[in-house]
Parts: sequence; C-alpha cells; structure tokens
Amino acid sequence: MSPVRYAGGVLDRATKLREDEDWISAALVSEAAMAVLLQDDRNFVTRADRREDTRAAIIPLSTVGERVVTSGASWVFLGLDGEVPMFGVDVSSQLIGEVPEIRDAGEFADLRKIGSLVPPAEAAMLAYARAMIAWQKRHRFCTVCGSPMESQRAGHLRRCTNPDCKLESFPRTDPVVIMLVTRPSSGGQPERCLLGRHTRLPRGAYSLLAGFVEPGESLEEAVAREMWEESGVRVLDVRYQASQPWPFPYTMMMGFRAVAETEEIVLDTDELEDARWFTAAEVSQFGEWGDETATFRVPRSDSVARYLLDAWIAEQSR
Ligand SMILES: [Zn+2]
Repeated sequence: MSPVRYAGGVLDRATKLREDEDWISAALVSEAAMAVLLQDDRNFVTRADRREDTRAAIIPLSTVGERVVTSGASWVFLGLDGEVPMFGVDVSSQLIGEVPEIRDAGEFADLRKIGSLVPPAEAAMLAYARAMIAWQKRHRFCTVCGSPMESQRAGHLRRCTNPDCKLESFPRTDPVVIMLVTRPSSGGQPERCLLGRHTRLPRGAYSLLAGFVEPGESLEEAVAREMWEESGVRVLDVRYQASQPWPFPYTMMMGFRAVAETEEIVLDTDELEDARWFTAAEVSQFGEWGDETATFRVPRSDSVARYLLDAWIAEQSR
C-alpha cells in the first residue's frame, strides 16, 4: 500500500471502458452502479464531524443517475470496484434537496478536514473524484475560442464544441516540488533540516518548503531554485523520494531530499514568515497540526511533507 494519503486507491480505472459509449450508457442506468458525490468541492461522507469512524458515503448511482444525465451535472466514470462500476457525481445544483435518500446517507465535508480519518483506499477514491470534478468545473469553456466545452470519454476528456476548433483538454495535475533539505552534522552539531512558516499556515505550524514547477526546468532544478528563492540556501544531491496526488484542487506533490551546501537563511518575506534549522529531537517535540496550544506544530498528518519529515526523524533516531 502507498505510504502517502490520497494514493493507494484500489479501483481498476478500466481506461478502455471510458471510450465504450454503449457500455458507459448501460452502466449509468444500471442498478449495480455506485457513486461518490461532490457538492461545491466537498465530498459526501457518512459524517462530517471529524469522528474516527468517518467513511466515504457510497450510494447507488440510481439514486441520482437519471437526473444527473438529464441535468447536465458533472460526472465521471472512476472505474470498477471488482465488477461494480463506480462514478463520481457533482450534485452542486438544487438536485440534492430533492433526493431524501442522499440527505439520509451522510453529509458533505471538506476532504482537508476528514481526509486523514477515512480508510486509505476510500481517501484515494474521494481525492480522485474531487480532482476530476474540480477539473471539469474549471474547464467549462475553451481556452482558445471561448466556446463551451463538452464532456467526453466518460468525463476524462473535454472537447470544444466549436467545429472549427475542437480543442481537447485532458485532466490536469499541476506539478509541485516539496523538499526536505538537511544540513549535515558537523562540529558536534547534529544533522538539521530546514522548515519554514507560510503566513497562511495556522499559528506555530512549520512545513517543508515547496513550489510549483515552471516550464523549462527539471524537477531537480525546481527544488534548487525554490530553495534559493525562498530561503537563500543552495542545495546539492537532490533525490526523489515519493509523490502524492494532492486534490486541492489537482496538484501532484513530488517529494525530494536534498543536502544544503550553505547554511545562512535569507528569507523571502513575500512567501515566508520564518524559516529555521531544526534537529530531529526538536521536531519530535512539536505539537500536532491541530494542537492550538503548541508553540511549534508539524505539517498535517495527511501530507507528503509529514511523510518525508517522519522518515527523516526515524532515520536520525537510529
Ligand atoms: Zn475552441
């Protein structure tokens, strides 16, 4: 199983079936088909009050199926769960109030709040559905000619409806590098890693530095550039560690380790409020992300930042 949240899904994506319009049409009206729902980017779960037993709320597609097809709501074929066709359906319109079976089956919640509570394979499916519906809803019009786009391949392709244009748009995932940068031990000083504080993070929360990959650079170059721009630290030996599909709205987090060649921090105050070198022993004393009384807090438990940081701490305590 994948060590990071939102990966490790168990659906067979059945990519060939997306293009089989007859099969998809039959699946949409099949009694066997199931669905996960989205409303205004929130996922449908059994309960939204952050309890440990929160699960994905998976309902028969027939509960909403016909209305979805006729209403023009966004939907996507996610794949097969065994033999069962699984769909993601956006019910942001007034549909929801009209279907008591939905009202009774659960609540809509922000995956940021409940993503670490639901079982990993369900979290992966909810993230996949959220990212696909978010992409569809943000690509309603052609970026070349402005005509409406229509959904094809069971929600996995959008095509411009202007016959002179026919621009195709594929599901997006925006690349972001995130890096655990360490300063080797020297002169009795143990190894340390650099953590920074974005002003938008909760008070006391520190995380790895990160940034969008730009056109015309490799991932390794993006790591070095972001570190230099945000912290003034030069890095060497950039090595890939792990990736995470981060569905807010559709980012691919790519985790790296790198070694700091320089130590002095020159903060980019447009991006960061603080950045410091911490030992593993110091980070081990940090409070959890949600701990409002802690002076320092670790990254969210569902993030690849946390995965990389925990791996480093475990390595340092060996
Ligand atoms: Zn167009």
